[in-house]
Parts: sequence; structure tokens; C-alpha cells
Amino acid sequence: MLPLWTTRSMSESASESGTDSLTWISWFCSLPGHEYFAEVSEDFIEDDFNLTGLNALVPFYKEALEMILDVEPLEEDSLKIPDVSIVESSAELLYGLIHQRYILTRQGLQQMVEKYEAGHFGYCPRVFCHSHPVLPCGRSDLPGLDTVKLFCPNCIDNYSPPSSRFHGVDGAFFGTTFPHLLFQCYRELAPSPIAPKGTNSTPTSSSSSNGANKATTSSSDLKSEADESRSNKPTTLQPNQIGQKTPQARLYTPRIYGFRVSELAKSGPRMRWMRMRPESLEELELVGNVVESRSVTTAGLKTVRG
Ligand SMILES: [Zn+2]
Repeated sequence: MLPLWTTRSMSESASESGTDSLTWISWFCSLPGHEYFAEVSEDFIEDDFNLTGLNALVPFYKEALEMILDVEPLEEDSLKIPDVSIVESSAELLYGLIHQRYILTRQGLQQMVEKYEAGHFGYCPRVFCHSHPVLPCGRSDLPGLDTVKLFCPNCIDNYSPPSSRFHGVDGAFFGTTFPHLLFQCYRELAPSPIAPKGTNSTPTSSSSSNGANKATTSSSDLKSEADESRSNKPTTLQPNQIGQKTPQARLYTPRIYGFRVSELAKSGPRMRWMRMRPESLEELELVGNVVESRSVTTAGLKTVRG
């Protein structure tokens, strides 16, 4: 008896020879729209520990697992299945959920890094990211809630894939953790949170002397605070603890007839301030300290109020 999947691959490419050597996993990853998937190693799938809990999420779990591993089902088992297409969709769901776990392993991360460096996931559509490569990312770890999104490590934002063929791929098959864990493990690929010196100073920033340029003011405040703290406190942050790649740090400036839109305008460029990067390790550490002291204060206030 032929493995179940051969019926589909034979009907899709009847003239293709060598389907015998094509595994279900290779075939699945070669389908249009499945370009983001890594081929999960069979060793990983055969280890029951890696599949813990998935039988509760996938209907026809046993049959789906057999299909993924190209195991021929027993004659009496195959008679119980009402429709092969049900098992096919179960196999797709099961493979996706296994994939979510696999790409967090050392081997899986390495495979995804190779795809990332080859540009298999595409590039950030934001102009000032200058075609920075992106990674697939889910907004949920549970299937059926959202489709796959693309995460850009340069602007730290999520985008919809440009082609509609990815709009049917479940985001849970990549999960919420994957891109962030990858950049924790491969810091040489992550854009540094520190901008090259002079990035934040704009030629017309002198107009901020009247207090109109809030973002520049707050940034320079931070800088002078950083200068003060530098003398009192050594930085605990090591340069190798953050991204190693030079970031694409240029920011978009909205203009009307060539004049910059005031940052205090209701329609002002607030995103500019949000996307600004510190220019030194000390400044970066200060940002963390400010956030920390703020959360301590907020927690304190809550305790007082509560
Ligand atoms: Zn980007």
C-alpha cells in the first residue's frame, strides 16, 4: 500500500519521477506558501517528549503522526478513517505545532538562521530599514487565532507578509518566542540598540531651544543625565550582551513644503521619538534605570493606594 500522501503528490505532479525519495516533510515544505517552514528532523518528531500535550490539540493524532513520518497505517486502522483529507489537515496542524517547538532548539534555530541569511523570509517594507531581513513570527502560540507575521529586528515591529499565499499560514506554527530567542542566541545578527554617534542630532535641532522640540530635548536630557551617571556609576552592561550589527538608525522626517512638522503638532512625528536609539552604552543603561525607577514608583503608588 502506498503512503497516504503519495496520492496527493502524484496527482499534483504525475510526471515527476523520484517521489519515492520525497518524504512527507520535504513535500510539505516545498508547497507554495510553505517557504517559511524549516524541515523538522525526524529524530525530533520520534522523541515522544517533544510532542507532549499535542495529542489533545490535534484530531486523528496517531494517524497524522504516521502520515508525517511516512509510516504506512495498518489495514484495519486505515478503514476507520472517514476521509483522508481530514487526516491531511490534522497532519498539517500537527507538523505546524511540532515546528513551533523545533525552531526553538539549537538545530532548529541554526536551520532558520540559514534561511534568514538567504533571505527566505523577505525584507522589511519600512523605507529606513533599508531592506533589512525579517523573521516569521506568530502573535499567538495557540493555533487558529492569527496568521503568520514578519518581525523586523531593526525597527522592532511586525508586518503582514506581502504575498497573499502566506495569509493562510497559521502564526502559531512559528510562535511568539522564536524571533526573539533567535536574536538572543545569535547576537551577531541582531541590530544594536545603540545608534552610531550623531544619528539623533538633526541639522535644524537648534529650533528646539524654544522648547518646541520635545523629543530632542528629552533625548539631550537623557544624554546629560548619562554624562552625570557615568562618573558615579560604572556600567554593568557588557557590549557583547546586546546586538552586534550596526543598526539602520535613520528616521523619517515629515515635511510640508520643506519645513519639518513640529513635534508638538497634533499630527506631529511622535513615531520619530519612539524609534530613537541611545548613542552610547551609558545612555542605553540609563533608559533601563529610568524605566526601572518609574515602575518602582508606580508599584509604590499602587501599594499606597491599595
Ligand atoms: Zn524594519
